[in-house]
Amino acid sequence: MRRFLLPASRKPYSSARQCLTTTLSLGLMLGLSACATNPGAGRNNWDAAQLARREQRVTDGAIGSRNTDAETELRRQVCEIDRVACDAIRVYVVDRPEAQARLWPNDMLIFTNGLLRLINQTGSSAAAQLRFALAHELAHRQLGHFNRRHHAGWDADAAEREADAVAMESLRTSNPPPDSGIELLQLIIEQRGENSRGAERMRARIAAMRKRISREVVP
Ligand SMILES: [Zn+2]
Repeated sequence: MRRFLLPASRKPYSSARQCLTTTLSLGLMLGLSACATNPGAGRNNWDAAQLARREQRVTDGAIGSRNTDAETELRRQVCEIDRVACDAIRVYVVDRPEAQARLWPNDMLIFTNGLLRLINQTGSSAAAQLRFALAHELAHRQLGHFNRRHHAGWDADAAEREADAVAMESLRTSNPPPDSGIELLQLIIEQRGENSRGAERMRARIAAMRKRISREVVP
């Protein structure tokens, strides 16, 4: 299985603890809370000017140097998954060690090399897991979550499960293993630690996906 367009010089984490520390400190500092990995966390009330400034920093490489080869490949996949969003989404892959992905309300999709690196470790499952991560982020847009989150009764955890369900459905056409999303979240939990921030929510998402798969397998 080829690697997903990562700079050859970068080394993976030397230990889970180092990764956890890096994830927490940098994640909080940058506000790059990961949607796929840390549901419901982080600010949701960015205004247009703040988002524009943030995107400028990403564009300039201030968050981390950009992996343009990976950006090209991910953009291609975004357009395969969601033709409607294709023209609007701007894909950035930044050289950050934490495993994160997030689609922002202004249609900037930020992936980290850390997430690509984690996915690469899975060998033959890597393509399906990458696909799941992209489809999950795009699902938030398709489901109107960026507008709905400002309304009363907004349930961030339910929104994550909804996005997982749409991602699972969209993967069906490319015939990947149905448990790609489960594997991906398990990897992230393993990397961050069983008791890390957001782990409990990710376990709930895994349980919901398992339930969905079992419903499909057993008539
Ligand atoms: Zn999400």
